[in-house]
Amino acid sequence: MNKRAFNFNAGPAALPLEVLQRAQAEFVDYKETGMSIMEMSHRGAVYESVHNEAQTRLLNLFGNPEGYKVLFLQGGASTQFAMIPLNLLTEGKTAGYVRTGSWADKAIKEAKLIGETFIAASSEESKFMSLPDLSNLSLPDHTAYLHLTSNETIGGTEFKEFPGTGSVPLIADMSSDILSRSFDLKSFGMVYAGAQKNLGPSGVTVVIAREELLQESPKHLPTIMRYDTHYKNNSLYNTPPSFAIYMVNEVLKWIEEQGGLAGIEQLNRKKAGILYDAIDQSGGFYKGCAAKDSRSLMNVTFRLASEELEKQFIKETGQAGFVGLKGHRSVGGLRASIYNAVPYEAISALVDFMDDFRKRNA
Ligand SMILES: *Cc1c(COP(=O)(O)O)cnc(C)c1O
Repeated sequence: MNKRAFNFNAGPAALPLEVLQRAQAEFVDYKETGMSIMEMSHRGAVYESVHNEAQTRLLNLFGNPEGYKVLFLQGGASTQFAMIPLNLLTEGKTAGYVRTGSWADKAIKEAKLIGETFIAASSEESKFMSLPDLSNLSLPDHTAYLHLTSNETIGGTEFKEFPGTGSVPLIADMSSDILSRSFDLKSFGMVYAGAQKNLGPSGVTVVIAREELLQESPKHLPTIMRYDTHYKNNSLYNTPPSFAIYMVNEVLKWIEEQGGLAGIEQLNRKKAGILYDAIDQSGGFYKGCAAKDSRSLMNVTFRLASEELEKQFIKETGQAGFVGLKGHRSVGGLRASIYNAVPYEAISALVDFMDDFRKRNA
């Protein structure tokens, strides 16, 4: 095989090599069925066991808290921006949103189309480069839920702690940091994530929620947009993205092999640590974008003194086999997305490159 790229793509993103190789070995003939998993009925026992296994593995990684259900949906996290208020923001209620950047704003935009919302906290004054304090939130009695974005993929900020919200369900868009660290699922009513950053390939969205949030949707909602449809049918109301779900199951096995969430977290801290150290110890040559206490372990955003130098950095990293280091088009700069599957060696190679680039251009 040719050398693997040092893949720092923001999403779709790197997958564990072991997972790709296992999938390749099973690609044409899944467990001696004479077919690929892609060619099977989603109503057959073989596919259904993969589907159910992936749900069980996910809940196991979170310590199997009681009363939660996993859904596999389509349309990306972006569809959840609409499905959440459609299902949960009912007449007479209001939904609280934490404004932390681009992804939070997209979620807010959808909710506003559907019902009454309020901004519970915002970090706009820091141009979203820090995170708001959530320790003293005041939520009205008729709050349907509080929504936050655990990791802002574009700005590079990530909540370290989550607020207690009492009887108000806390909902998190975890698209870019799900399964990257331990957290207590029981403090959430719902978490959701498009799979293509930390869970597998694009095409499936994982929703993990307390069952009571899924069991009864407003009567007027179309069938496919209703959580209760997917809940009652175990995410098999219509044809699921079966190959993507199979891949998620393989990624979950791989996470188990890394020591579960605690093991992955340790590795992620080490990975992010060497990269932030390279930035902080560059004498100001590299400038981290996010405030130190808000820095993401998944998306490391930084800048150089000029856009010309950034262009040069992108060009040279490209020649050296690094992929995906350009910042999001809306903010510019540089970004290394270092999700679970990005190996330590890739980050270590980047740190070496950065050191060399600094010496040549400082
Ligand atoms: C990538 C991303 C999304 C969008 O996901 P889609 O699956 O493309 O809809 C939403 N939220 C966050 C935090 C993301 O990183």
